[in-house]
Amino acid sequence: MKLTFLGTSAGKPTRERNLSAIGLEFDQDNKWYLFDCGEATQFQLMKSKLSIGKLESIFITHLHGDHFYGLPGLLSSKKMDEALKPLTIYGPKGIKKFIECTFSVSESKLGYELTIIEYEDDQEFVFDKFTVKVLPVVHSIKSVAFYIKEHDTSNKLNEAKLREIGLEPSPIYGELKRGKTVIHKGKSLDPKEFMLEPIKGKRVIISGDNAKPDILGTYLKDLDVLVHECTYTQAVYDNLKVKILHTTSKDLGEAATQFSVKNLIATHISPRYHKDGKFTVEMIEDEIKNTYKGTLFVANDMDVFTLNANKISYFHTLPKTLPPRQKT
Ligand SMILES: [Zn+2]
Ligand SMILES: [Zn+2]
Repeated sequence: MKLTFLGTSAGKPTRERNLSAIGLEFDQDNKWYLFDCGEATQFQLMKSKLSIGKLESIFITHLHGDHFYGLPGLLSSKKMDEALKPLTIYGPKGIKKFIECTFSVSESKLGYELTIIEYEDDQEFVFDKFTVKVLPVVHSIKSVAFYIKEHDTSNKLNEAKLREIGLEPSPIYGELKRGKTVIHKGKSLDPKEFMLEPIKGKRVIISGDNAKPDILGTYLKDLDVLVHECTYTQAVYDNLKVKILHTTSKDLGEAATQFSVKNLIATHISPRYHKDGKFTVEMIEDEIKNTYKGTLFVANDMDVFTLNANKISYFHTLPKTLPPRQKT
């Protein structure tokens, strides 16, 4: 499983950070999924290895502009790239009106099938590799977190072992999978000896803006990665004249500690935190680390995180030159 951070800023873009958007890919898959689509997400895509033609679905956490104003441009460009594969958007109530209104005013015809699904709290959607559950969170408008649960792989044959004894794919594979003993070259084969150990699927939460990370409660336990907003440090938040419902690095660190989160990726960083300013990203990192002792990353644009077995690895892919153009 791979997460590509296309945008990590809160509210407005900065020179270093674009607005919220995260690409999710599964192993041995030819498609990917987008979580939030801040303005200019399609520009960020051009810097990544993700291509618009392989985009399967888009999930929107809430209807603040920094999380979905990138949709009209991205949806229009998809047609111009002749990437005419159908696309589904999952979003809160109101997303359908926004998209239909935009394309009606501009008299645009997309030229591909676009399905818009307005989800309800606690609704679950099943895909070929995973399920997504919609968890309500706390923000100034309706906002959700997506609980992504990769399917466990079980009932898989150890094909390499079967090939070793000269058994190539054939209907016998199906019989072994169904638990039937079969005869091969005069020998009886016990199906149990040719099954792979089941592998537990990864569990990830990608949260929208949320003032109370601990509201995700038991979903945080047994999680491989929590991706959560972390807009301010506590002192900055305490001095805000107008309080917007966001998480501070103090609260995020405490919630991640309380629920023993293994890997934490903080994102959605207020533009006031940058390396030349009074407030730096290290302040956010340090405040989380005051309590949280697990693996922590504060995401940058174009960071790619890969989850293998029990390990998370990371590399930064902001290219000096753009990668070769992807075929759509
Ligand atoms: Zn936001
Ligand atoms: Zn918001």
